Formats: sequence, structure tokens, C-alpha cells
Amino acid sequence: MLRLHGQELAVRTLERSLAEGRVHHAYLFAGPAHLGKTALALQLAQALNCTGEDPPCGACAACKRIAAGTHADVRVVAVDPQAAEGPRTLIGIGAVREIINSAHLRPYEGRARVFIIADAHLLSNEAANALLKVLEEPPPDVALILLSSAPDGVLPTVQSRCQTLAFRPLPTSDVARVLREERGVGAEQAETLARLSRGCVGWAIAAAQDETLYAATHQRIEQIADAIEGGLEARFAYAAELARRAERDRAAGRDELLLWLRWLRDVMLVQQGQGERVVNLSWKDALERHAAALQPADAVRWARGVIRAIEAMERNANVRLAIESLMLDAPALAA
Ligand SMILES: [Zn+2]
Repeated sequence: MLRLHGQELAVRTLERSLAEGRVHHAYLFAGPAHLGKTALALQLAQALNCTGEDPPCGACAACKRIAAGTHADVRVVAVDPQAAEGPRTLIGIGAVREIINSAHLRPYEGRARVFIIADAHLLSNEAANALLKVLEEPPPDVALILLSSAPDGVLPTVQSRCQTLAFRPLPTSDVARVLREERGVGAEQAETLARLSRGCVGWAIAAAQDETLYAATHQRIEQIADAIEGGLEARFAYAAELARRAERDRAAGRDELLLWLRWLRDVMLVQQGQGERVVNLSWKDALERHAAALQPADAVRWARGVIRAIEAMERNANVRLAIESLMLDAPALAA
């Protein structure tokens, strides 16, 4: 049985295909990060190779090896920022050639070869076109699962040959309920984590179990509040540090810009007298200071700038430039 909180439609669709023995040869799992796209893709790979009862059983050798990332027939392909050759911010033709070559071999230890392509919108054009060949004439016993938080960036010809399953964020109240009822988290902490999770129940559960995860987010929010209050120099120091991190890990950079967006949204809520709806519950004082010191129009303009920087990041534009111009254009707080 497949299990994933909050994505019942995707789960039911896949379970029906498994039960009828009609699993597609290519899927596109589309939706924001941290909703469990990778987890469900691995479960599907397990179900296709499981030797236990009620696949994926999670207990047989195949299921365990797939979970551990050591199964010979299941491969996760992603951008390699340390690649010796070829692009470091895209999935290049080399990775796809490897898929093509091994897709035509019989499964080595299991029943199906499964290729999971993380961030499929980052396939280079050359790589995506090469992948089309496999999608057009899929070898038997091969499943390709493309994952993307920006499915509009996946070539339409590739998209049209995949069955798309949409992953959607959960309402905050559902995330809080899962934390309370299934994880025994106290009501107040459940509410805070649910609001911080942006509807990503997986993140919320992980944060409830692992204090360092929450602490890391807490620290990022602190830095954002400080950067807003600091002068130009503090903002640029922050921008340089954020750009460094984002160049290493785009997803982390994007996540941090989303924290900015949420902060500015909270500032606007306070300005509109709706302080009870803010996400950053622990920073009410700072939010009130910023709400008082920023013109409402400036807060909106700043938020738009953050959205542009996120879009630039997703387009693979120059991350450093996008972040620095965001800080340069940021309005000053009134004294
Ligand atoms: Zn199994």
C-alpha cells in the first residue's frame, strides 16, 4: 500500500494502476517542494519490485534496498553540482545517455528498472530531447518518474508523453491536525509548525521530530528580520551570504526567498489589522515594528521583487545578481 499524507488523489491513481497492472511507463509528479514527490516515486519503485505481500511491503530485500538507495535497478538522477564535465546547474545529456543505455538492459535484480529524474525542469534541452526517444518507444519493464516543482519548465513534448499527477499543499489546519493527532504534538507547537510548513506536511512532521530543522528555519527568519532592520551594509552582507548558499543549493535559496515572501505577507497582514493571521507567530514585535516603519506600497513592491528573484532562480538566471538587485531595490525602514 502506498502512503502519503495529503496527496490522496495521486496515491489512489497509482494504486489503481498497480492493482490493474497498468502502470504507465512515464509519470510527471508536479507540485511544490516538500510534499513527498520523491517519497512517493520511491514507493512506486518499491511496489514495482517488491517480493512481499501488499507491495510495497517495506520489509522485503528489494523494498529495503530501494529505500537505502542501493538497488541496482532503481536510479535517482539529479543535477550534479560537482560534475567534472558538462553543466552544473542542469541535468546534462550524459545523465540521459546513461538512462537510455541501461533502459534497454533487462532488470538486473528486480522486475522493473525505474529512473527517477529529480527537478525535471532542469533537464537541458539536449537532454530532454534525448529523453524523448525513451518516452516515445519505452522499453518493457521500464518506468520513468519525472519530478518537478516548476512543471512549466518541462518541455511540452516531454510532458505530453507522461501521465501528470499534481501534488498540492495541504490546508494549514490539516497539517496541524496530523501533527496533533498522529504525532502527539502540543496544540501550540502544532499550530506554529503547520503555519511554517506552507502546507508541506512532510516538513512539519520532520520539524516536529528534529529540533535542529525548526531551529535552522528559526535562525533564517531571525536573519531576515535583522537584514530588514539593518542598513544597506547589513543587507548586502546578508545578500552575499544568501547568494553563496543559493549557488550551492538552488532549492535552499528558493526556500529562503519564500521565507522572505511570507515575512512580507505577515507585515502586510499587520498593516491591514489582520495580525492574528500571521505565520511568524514568534516574531510579533518585529512584525509590528516593520509594519509601522514600511509604507504599505513599499511592502508590496518589495514582495514583488522577491517573486521576481524566485522566478529568476527558477529560470536559472544569475542567482547572485537576482539577490543583490533585490536588496539594492529594497525600501529603507522609516526611523
Ligand atoms: Zn517489499
